[in-house]
Amino acid sequence: MASGKRYTYHKGFLSDNALDFSKRSSFIKEILLERVNPTKVIIPCKQHYGVSAVPVVKVGDEVKVGQCVAMPPKGKFSLAVHSGISGRVTEIRDIKLPNGIECPAIVIVNDMKMSRVPSIRHRESMNLDSKDVLGIISNAGICGLGGEGIPTAAKIDRARRACVDEVLVNALQSEPYSTSDLMIMSEYPGYVVMGAAAVARACGAKKVSILISEKRKMLAEGITTAITNAKHDFNEISFEIKYFKERFPQGYYRLVAKALYGVNLTPEETLEDKCSAVLFNCSTLCACWEALSENVPLMNRVVSVTGDIASGHNIIVPIGTPVSEVLAAGKTSDISGPVVWGNSLTGLAIEDPENTPIIKLTNAITVIRKQETPRTPCIHCGLCAQNCPMGLSPHIIYEMLKQGMPKKAEEEGARTCISCGICSYICPAGIRLTPRIAQFAAEGRIIGENSLLHNTSFKYEIEGIGDLSLLEDYVTDKEGSANDDPDAIELPFDGGKTV
Ligand code: SF4
Ligand code: SF4
Repeated sequence: MASGKRYTYHKGFLSDNALDFSKRSSFIKEILLERVNPTKVIIPCKQHYGVSAVPVVKVGDEVKVGQCVAMPPKGKFSLAVHSGISGRVTEIRDIKLPNGIECPAIVIVNDMKMSRVPSIRHRESMNLDSKDVLGIISNAGICGLGGEGIPTAAKIDRARRACVDEVLVNALQSEPYSTSDLMIMSEYPGYVVMGAAAVARACGAKKVSILISEKRKMLAEGITTAITNAKHDFNEISFEIKYFKERFPQGYYRLVAKALYGVNLTPEETLEDKCSAVLFNCSTLCACWEALSENVPLMNRVVSVTGDIASGHNIIVPIGTPVSEVLAAGKTSDISGPVVWGNSLTGLAIEDPENTPIIKLTNAITVIRKQETPRTPCIHCGLCAQNCPMGLSPHIIYEMLKQGMPKKAEEEGARTCISCGICSYICPAGIRLTPRIAQFAAEGRIIGENSLLHNTSFKYEIEGIGDLSLLEDYVTDKEGSANDDPDAIELPFDGGKTV
């Protein structure tokens, strides 16, 4: 199942033990801490690529675990949002997230009853066609949890139209010091593998390749067992584990294209079109299988509480939980330093942990002890250029942009920056190179409500996806079907079977 070949990137930094920062080298061997049960959640309606969803609850409403609280506006590229707790809606207000996104947010105070919507239940048959898979995944509000936030159904649809051969599972933790994806692979390998197989079938791909770091070989046993089990339901799919040398950042699709296929993708080119493959984060695929097998929408995620602190943990967090409650649950008492919303390389320092929520894309909260960052002019050490995974010279590009020479910066390749954060992280002079370069690179691309559509060579049918119904109403009315149980759900992909 594993080829024995080892793949690598040419640049990026190597770490002896990427978990040393937390002084927790046994991090991924510990059990996943239990779920946080917050006193309230603040659920933003835009946590994804696309336009904001629209609240479908009002102040005073009682909501249940798994209930859809915001829906995509008709005909728009957007995604549903669900509650991970039960309780009462106390406020709907505008919020500005640390990444600059402004949207409505729904505040729900927890009644601690954890009462769930009845539609969360085991689905007995996996005889799903592409349309069913896309509909369920879209209605479950699933987007790329590795940080990109592209609605997953849209990505599957794009891959299907590009006739991809291979689904790649990104189980390479993209940044050091957090282990949420590794924890998913350790605790839920069966969900990831089944999710990958179902997505591969929906894309029309015949192969699933799971990408893991050679340092995480201890995960291979669980993955291999999961593959053996998945073969019963997906015998037309072949599986392979591909090992990578651990080098940060890792798992970005353009880096993967280069390492696996030797293809240098421009920002405008897609893995689907150029390499006949599509890449999904392992946490995304785990969420897909939860939705497909148990009708569970995306309402929780695994978050690493990490950093230069006494302890580090992974915990299951309802989306919308304030960062302050995550820190408390993660047993983090020393928060004298900056609190970072996200990972150590690409995360954003936040001022107000009480009012900043975990969103679908937050895989870590990093706390860094207060330290005096040196601030000097560039000392021309060359470290940023040596480590940039895209082969850029960040110090030169930074100076060009600072001096108002965008054309020259473009000639230096600035548009190919992937915003990985390595250059800022590694600079001994404390120069924040990434924000300026990454912003310039982003300006050159089409960022907006329908950018996925613009970046594809075909027209994506917005109307065809995410407009089937809410997840809890995902049923078809087949004429003449007998249904004695008023609470039964008729499965459109089960030959009319009811559960
Ligand atoms: S943020 Fe951009 S310029 Fe800096 S190391 Fe990463 S890819 Fe290179
Ligand atoms: S790492 Fe910092 S100090 Fe060294 S060359 Fe780059 S910008 Fe200059």
